[in-house]
Amino acid sequence: MSREKTIFTRIIEGELPCHKLFEDEYVIAFLDIQPLARGHTLVVPKESAPSMDKLSAESASALGRSLPSLCRAVMRATGATAYNLLQNNGREAGMSVPHVHIHIIPRYPDSTHSFLWGPGEIDHSEASKLAEAISATMD
Ligand code: 5GP
Repeated sequence: MSREKTIFTRIIEGELPCHKLFEDEYVIAFLDIQPLARGHTLVVPKESAPSMDKLSAESASALGRSLPSLCRAVMRATGATAYNLLQNNGREAGMSVPHVHIHIIPRYPDSTHSFLWGPGEIDHSEASKLAEAISATMD
């Protein structure tokens, strides 16, 4: 199935410019063009998978491997006091570019953005069945 190239594939292929922080065989990282905070970074596997469940283990490993060092570098260079990692999958989940990416969003003492949600209440009997069901369908 052929899909139209995403903006991120066009950046990876050098067709569109970006403020690049890092690149290796599998991963590229660059600054978000509409940052929620100074230093807002996108970490993008070069493989064009539309969501995390479609990403190969090889690209996922490389993506995970790049994160600690990128997070340290963003923190050091910006002086941020904390950061959030955010990863949306699917339009309904807020994904606007259908190409896997992880946001590194620095937080500063005067930051006001929020990712907090009201905690729900677990039903342990349903949760135990659900955990089993999810575990049984893993490939
Ligand atoms: P999503 O909403 O899919 O999780 O995040 C997509 C992110 O990509 C957004 O934060 C948006 O600002 C960023 N973005 C969209 N187009 C471009 C672009 O052309 N260049 C860069 N650097 N970031 C982009």
